[in-house]
Amino acid sequence: MKKTGILIEMENKRVKDTTLGMITLAARADTDLYALVLDGMDDPACDILARYGITTVVDLGLSFSPEMRLNPAVRAKAATQAAQKLQLDVIFGLSSADGKDLIPRVAALLDAPLVMDCLDVDLEKNIARTSHYSGKVLADIQLSGDVVIFGIRPNAVQPVPSPAQPQKIKMASDSAAVAGLALVSWDDGENGGQASLAEADIIIAGGRGLKNSDNFSLIFDCAKKMHAAVGASRVAVDEGWVPYAFQVGQTGEKVSPQVYIACGISGSIQHFAGMKTARMIIAVNKDENAAIMANCDYHVQGDLFEILPELIRQL
Ligand SMILES: Cc1cc2nc3c(=O)[nH]c(=O)nc-3n(C[C@H](O)[C@H](O)[C@H](O)COP(=O)(O)OP(=O)(O)OC[C@H]3O[C@@H](n4cnc5c(N)ncnc54)[C@H](O)[C@@H]3O)c2cc1C
Repeated sequence: MKKTGILIEMENKRVKDTTLGMITLAARADTDLYALVLDGMDDPACDILARYGITTVVDLGLSFSPEMRLNPAVRAKAATQAAQKLQLDVIFGLSSADGKDLIPRVAALLDAPLVMDCLDVDLEKNIARTSHYSGKVLADIQLSGDVVIFGIRPNAVQPVPSPAQPQKIKMASDSAAVAGLALVSWDDGENGGQASLAEADIIIAGGRGLKNSDNFSLIFDCAKKMHAAVGASRVAVDEGWVPYAFQVGQTGEKVSPQVYIACGISGSIQHFAGMKTARMIIAVNKDENAAIMANCDYHVQGDLFEILPELIRQL
């Protein structure tokens, strides 16, 4: 049977839901599932992994000092050593901000083929499905090698429980052997402290229809009421109303939330390239002929300056 290692992402000691979706994707195949945990493992987190079908929990974080824990070179080395010791055939990680830093390093150290931003993976044939040319083309890419690596788009697969009774093993890594890269400082960046856009369940986004940065507070107020993340079109970013970290689209973040609410966004092909895989798209636009009105699940036709304050009141 194949052995698949899953790079587990945690937030505040909780296994991220997007990680559970990735486990569900791997569990569709006939494979042993190894959870590679770099951030320390407590019993509740272990129980969650068991509920979603992990067969072995591998605790790799024990030997890290706090300053080493965040160093991507140290993390990559630990994951690589585990993959070699366990003789993994496949590695899954999230195409998240952290995953984009970690997974290519692991692929380089293992000299293994890698596809990032996979929407789906057929593990029997090692074929990944990815989107290209602003989502106009879906490509199926087959990997071959002793070990192959897939970066999975967050939220591409909904988590489905599949209980297992995992064994737990501890594996100290030779992290001291990593040279050449020291983490000097850490800054959360300019995303306003919100959770990762790519991993959000609900996103409310604003575009040129907001008219200026002050009006964007309508989007932030709605987001707060809905526990949603805030997104934006490129126009809103280019105008300086919100930072680039908020941009959704071809040259921004690719998102697959449960619900995407586009306010004052026309629905250009470049914007769609980033959000067309949302499970439900809701548009708020005054123009019934805007492209987004024909490409959404629900729309509200009207002035967002009337609709959003009313929505905030209702919420
Ligand atoms: C190479 C390339 C890459 C690009 N990458 C991206 C990308 O990653 N992301 C992205 O978003 N764009 C991207 N773009 C830009 C893209 O082509 C569009 O220009 C952009 O998406 C349009 O943004 P918008 O919908 O906010 O503005 P507009 O297209 O101007 O639409 C504004 C909408 O707001 C509506 N509106 C106005 N006032 C109100 C009101 N009071 N109430 C309700 N509705 C109102 C209008 O009816 C209109 O539909 C890219 C372009 C290129 C060439």
